[in-house]
Amino acid sequence: MQIRKRKFATLCTLGITLVMGIYLGSSGLSLTSWVRAASPTKALAKHDVYYPGTEDLGPDEMRVVACGTGMPNSRPKQAAACFLVELGNGDKFIFDIGSGSAERLSAMKIPYDYLDKVFIGHLHSDHFGALADLWIGGVIGNRIKPLRVWGPSGHKPEFGTAYAMEHMQKVFTWDSGSRQGNVDIRGQVLEVTEFDYKGINQVIYQENGVTIRSIPAIHALDGPVSFILEWNGLKFAYSSDTYPNKWWLKYATGADIAIHECFASPKTLVEKQKWTPGAALNVGTQVHTSPAQFGKVMSLTKPRIAVAYHFFNDFDTLPEQLAQVRQTYDGPLSMATDYMVWNITKNDIRVRMASIDEDIWPQPAVGKKLPPDRSTRIGFSEFVLSGREPFPEVVQKIYDDINAEYGTTYKVPTD
Ligand SMILES: [Zn+2]
Ligand SMILES: [Zn+2]
Repeated sequence: MQIRKRKFATLCTLGITLVMGIYLGSSGLSLTSWVRAASPTKALAKHDVYYPGTEDLGPDEMRVVACGTGMPNSRPKQAAACFLVELGNGDKFIFDIGSGSAERLSAMKIPYDYLDKVFIGHLHSDHFGALADLWIGGVIGNRIKPLRVWGPSGHKPEFGTAYAMEHMQKVFTWDSGSRQGNVDIRGQVLEVTEFDYKGINQVIYQENGVTIRSIPAIHALDGPVSFILEWNGLKFAYSSDTYPNKWWLKYATGADIAIHECFASPKTLVEKQKWTPGAALNVGTQVHTSPAQFGKVMSLTKPRIAVAYHFFNDFDTLPEQLAQVRQTYDGPLSMATDYMVWNITKNDIRVRMASIDEDIWPQPAVGKKLPPDRSTRIGFSEFVLSGREPFPEVVQKIYDDINAEYGTTYKVPTD
């Protein structure tokens, strides 16, 4: 038995050696040379992805970034309505700033001083719910310029943008007061321009070769508007929310990029949003524009590219949404989702997705920050001050370390 075992073991060893020898002898060298050839050290020449902050914008180029494309309830995949327009002359404009969109704007790695112009189509929270985040977060994020806001009037003053902005500032009275005397608060100034919602193709902005016009929109109540931006022979049209209307058909015709609401289809509203068929039909086709109505609008206005937004863009709902659009429109189309990017020139439209660095920090201020005027601080009551535990042996070291690191001479405050 032992001999047999030994013979068996020897045979096995020989067999393995033989097999390995054949393997190494016949393919080992060629394998090595293949690996060397397939491992370049240079970056790929071209990406089909937009990495924010890594591309120059051409002097004749417009870049549009979807920073919110979803429904009124924002979700991780899609914030509510927000589109960023960047122009080759350096100007940047934000159209709507719906709930959840401020973080998408931050992901573009643009200094907050340049994210200073916001155009609000109407005062639903899914179109301006993140304004306070940009307004206040922008101050902390190094904005030292005022934030400028344009928005429509309403059928009564309290339904207008000026009223909303005045009261938004009141809501944040404690927040604003807390910064006074502690940081440079020049970026906390809000400059509001309210314009007539009934204006038809009225100019509401004209600077630096850029003209922005408003047209009335039809949605929920009097007040909503759509916007048309023209610059350098390029035309951008943005509906915000609207039922199909004659003003859009007339003034948005021939846009280079036309972004129009395309609400979740009535069938999807029943099956996924859990609405009754009656609510789905009313909201989906009368308050909003359904996909088939969207397609009809685009067939009549013929943009170089049509962009549908205001629906949850998922693997299981997109086919139905797209099929509805294609019943009435067969032209160039993007079914938008967050971080979709359009680069537009007179000769070309390139559509990509952005790839986002989630570890975002703010860019520096464009100008020099002013030290806070501590005399303007509201400060604490004696009651709260009496509860402070200043830990001088800990805090003095923090000051010493920072002063040593940066060559400064800050002293621990005693007031
Ligand atoms: Zn709305
Ligand atoms: Zn909306």
